[in-house]
Amino acid sequence: MKIIAIGRNYAAHIAELNNERPSEPVIFMKPDTAVLRNNAPFYHPDFSKDIHFEVEILLKIDREGKYIDQKFAHKYYNEIGIGVDFTARDIQAKCKEKGLPWEKAKGFNGSAPISAFLPKEEFDLSNLDFSLKQNGEIKQEGNTSLMLWNFDEIISYVSQFFTLKKGDIIFTGTPAGVGPIVVGDVLEAYIQEEKLLTVEIK
Ligand code: MG
Repeated sequence: MKIIAIGRNYAAHIAELNNERPSEPVIFMKPDTAVLRNNAPFYHPDFSKDIHFEVEILLKIDREGKYIDQKFAHKYYNEIGIGVDFTARDIQAKCKEKGLPWEKAKGFNGSAPISAFLPKEEFDLSNLDFSLKQNGEIKQEGNTSLMLWNFDEIISYVSQFFTLKKGDIIFTGTPAGVGPIVVGDVLEAYIQEEKLLTVEIK
């Protein structure tokens, strides 16, 4: 499986990092070794002093496809979840400065904790609240109505470049409020009122 992630999909998050608003979706990937399942803890690596949480709604692809038309995109995923796109912000800043790829800052071991997945029919996908707590305090609150590109647009766009396969996961971008983690933190991610993911930082 592969993980495809969308960067800069919420205007307020673009503003907080002083990024340019993109004219088309920003895509990057994480290897399967980034995935943490079943609320496994995250072991803070030594190479970064500034790892940030980014809570994001996930799509789980359940059918192979490429060049998917937007109007058929909904047929390619049946389940959603929530995840954290851990980002080594200090390394990413260096990469961005030099115009280099972000993989070291985004795809390291454990950088993609993901929840269990739930049937999308249970939710209004165009108006979905999600949030992240750090040590019990709400740090990020998002709603999918604020995405620059919605789920169907993302799938259509991504599938022009990468064949989507069953089991692939798409991270759909983070809202404002990203921030650093330290050892001992506990992150909890929610879709609406339901806590679906806990990550302890060790
Ligand atoms: Mg992200």
